[in-house]
Amino acid sequence: MNRRYRKLRLEKRNRLLELAYIDPITGLGNYNAYLVRTKEKLQKSSKKTMIILDIDKFKSFNKKYGHMKGNILLKRVGEEIKQSVRKTDIVCRLANDVFGIFLEGEVDVENITERLNNKISRISIGDIWYNLRISMGVYICDKDERDIQGIIDKAIMAHDSIKGKYHVPYGVFTEEFEQKMIRESEIENMMEDAIKNKEFEVYYQPQMNTKTEKMEGAEALVRWKKEGNVISPSEFIPIFEKNYFIIKLDEYVYKRVCENMQEMKKQLKEIPKISVNISKESLAEKDFLEKYMNITKQYDISPSNLEIEITERTTVDNNIDMKEILEKIKEKGFSIAIDDFGTGYSSLNMLEMLPIDMIKIDKSFIDRIGEKNETINLLEIILLISKKLNLKTVAEGVEKREQVEYLKKENCDFIQGYFYAKPLDFDALKNYIKENKQKQ
Ligand code: C2E
Ligand code: CA
Ligand code: CA
Repeated sequence: MNRRYRKLRLEKRNRLLELAYIDPITGLGNYNAYLVRTKEKLQKSSKKTMIILDIDKFKSFNKKYGHMKGNILLKRVGEEIKQSVRKTDIVCRLANDVFGIFLEGEVDVENITERLNNKISRISIGDIWYNLRISMGVYICDKDERDIQGIIDKAIMAHDSIKGKYHVPYGVFTEEFEQKMIRESEIENMMEDAIKNKEFEVYYQPQMNTKTEKMEGAEALVRWKKEGNVISPSEFIPIFEKNYFIIKLDEYVYKRVCENMQEMKKQLKEIPKISVNISKESLAEKDFLEKYMNITKQYDISPSNLEIEITERTTVDNNIDMKEILEKIKEKGFSIAIDDFGTGYSSLNMLEMLPIDMIKIDKSFIDRIGEKNETINLLEIILLISKKLNLKTVAEGVEKREQVEYLKKENCDFIQGYFYAKPLDFDALKNYIKENKQKQ
């Protein structure tokens, strides 16, 4: 091999190495470089902190200003990060719009995240300024931690912990959050089998007519029974809403409800109206109504015996045309209830605009009955407005006689809560209906 050739090969090798470690857009190290460079620092048993920095809505920026501008922006962000940290700290671009920062020694997290946020949230390209939003995840490493992959994962988890909280620029990794994530993935691993193994069961909580104290309806509430334990819906429903499994579960629950109603119809002259909780993920499905109508017909149930419960939060989602969806549901003969009323940010305008039959007043308002403060007036106002708009009202989470008396006085139409009954399994519900009848 002659010298010239050897030199060429060497250059080529260096070039390849560069390609393997350098991000051509920002000139910073890439993901591989981050792994290699941090390794050395991890050998030392000093304090270390990792920050992951993500540009929010970078895709929109690209769309609006084009990829060239997008690339320049990434370069500028890289520069600003570099300038905000010490020379010895590591800054790399790990993926699209995600940067990894590795800091050695004592770090004032509040200070550095604020500095980064200030520098990047208003950033210049040439003489034009752009407003950006960034979000960060911070992980303060254990002294003897050597596994960079684990460290990156924890910084990502810290970043995930502020998802949806737009006013919070950074999250710090905590054990508590890790436990939550572990539990979440456990639940995700079990959910598909849970349907197959019929681990989900529908319970029913009676709703009483306030005046007559006769049961007129019930709310269907799902229970997950796994190996003798019951997992609470408040634990798994939010997870299922995030990963869209709720679409399957809502449909499953609805089927079981129709099946139970069909059985009741054979045994009773009059069946209670059943309310079913439907998440916005289910409602947003194109074939939602068709699917649910097919089930309703399959079990020979009239939609007038059913109520669809959607949360107040769902009604303020701008991504779906709630008015159109609810009107179609209404056309078929279902009634519609707004759940957890008073906890979201809906407007009174919404109450008038949407075809709603019933308002479910959240337990937090009921809990304050008897307290001498303004919240009571708020409850009175909700009840008054509902009357004015011809909407029925259900009070949720009623536990005390005193609350029942108050709701009677204020003309709330229905009461649901432990005072009358906890959610009952189907057999217990049938017994409850029989006993409640005999009392009349
Ligand atoms: P939610 O729709 O607001 O249901 C009312 C919750 O309050 C139920 O909790 C019920 O058991 C509880 N509750 C009723 N009366 C009382 C009372 O007097 N005191 C107290 N402390 N609690 C009372 P649960 O069954 O744990 O359900 C939690 C949430 O999970 C429900 O809140 C609902 O949002 C959701 N959920 C339950 N089943 C389904 C379902 O099939 N589909 C969907 N999408 N969500 C469901
Ligand atoms: Ca509900
Ligand atoms: Ca509720």
